[in-house]
This record gives sequence, C-alpha cells and structure tokens, in this order.
Amino acid sequence: MRFGFDIDDTLINLREHAFHIYNHKLNQDVGIEIFRELKTVEIHEAFGLDNIAGGQMWNSLLEDIYFTDCPEFEGAVELLNKLEREGHEIFYITSRPKQYCQRTRDWVRAKGFPVQDDRFFCGMQDQEKIDIIKQLNLDFYFDDKPAVLDTLKDIPTKVYVKDQSYNQNVDISRVKEWVHFSY
Ligand SMILES: [Mg+2]
Repeated sequence: MRFGFDIDDTLINLREHAFHIYNHKLNQDVGIEIFRELKTVEIHEAFGLDNIAGGQMWNSLLEDIYFTDCPEFEGAVELLNKLEREGHEIFYITSRPKQYCQRTRDWVRAKGFPVQDDRFFCGMQDQEKIDIIKQLNLDFYFDDKPAVLDTLKDIPTKVYVKDQSYNQNVDISRVKEWVHFSY
C-alpha cells in the first residue's frame, strides 16, 4: 500500500512546540489549556496578537520552530517504520516553504522517520497537495488541516484527519493517537 503523510501537526507536534517558543520569546506564561482550546491552526490569538503581528512572529521564528527539538506524536515514528518494514511505501507531503525543504527532509530523517528522497514532496501550496496525492495514487493520506482536507473529498484515496482542536468539524475518519491506529 501507499501511505502519504502531512508532517506538521500530523506526525509532529509543531504548533505546541511553537507555542512554547512564543511564550519564551514574548516573555509570557500563557497556559497550555489556552492552547488546547484554540480553534485556529494559527496560534497567535493565544498571545493577543492580530493576524499581521501573528504572521510576522511565525515567520521570524521559523528556524527555531522547524529545526529545534519539536517532538513527534507518540507512536508516529514506530508506526511509519513498522509500515515500511511490512513493505508499504511511505510518502511525505508538506507545504513548508521551498527554502526549508532539504533541511526538513534531513530533520525528519534524523528524527527516525523512514525517508526515501524520491518520496518526499515539499514546498507546494496547501491546495496543490491534492494534485500530488492523485498523481501518487495513494491508498491512504493523513493531514490535520481543514483547508487541505476540504480539497480531498472526492478522491479514491482513503483520507484521515489527525485529531486537533481546530479540526473537530471535519467529518472523516479520525486518528486520535498514532499508538492506537490501525487501518
Ligand atoms: Mg499539517
């Protein structure tokens, strides 16, 4: 089978990682319970920032957010390695900006995820993911972002949403914890 995965907030806990970085940089102590209730993919609201200031903050911290010690979700590394050992093909499809693609691939590999160079797709817009997913004839695809998942409704690929506070309205099969996932 061919398995496709988004990376950020599907396999790794990037927003929460960024949340801690924001607290530190802004010298604040916003509680994690505020984070857990956010209904937006963006996290700046928790810090009282508007869209513009929030966007600037995110972009100015991308190096830290992407390439420090962001944790993977429990069981994700083990699951993907198990799938690979069983002979399945693992694809990554991330809309991280192009200039970060190579380092992201290296970082994901260093984290212990099984990565083949020709199965790592990066730098597309959210709405372009569907073209890659179709071309790759994926059997399964996993993502967290409603704006992406909304474009994937009418394809043969079995699509799952990785459970997050901001995607509770997405009405498709849901992965709450990777440790409990089976297909
Ligand atoms: Mg994501």
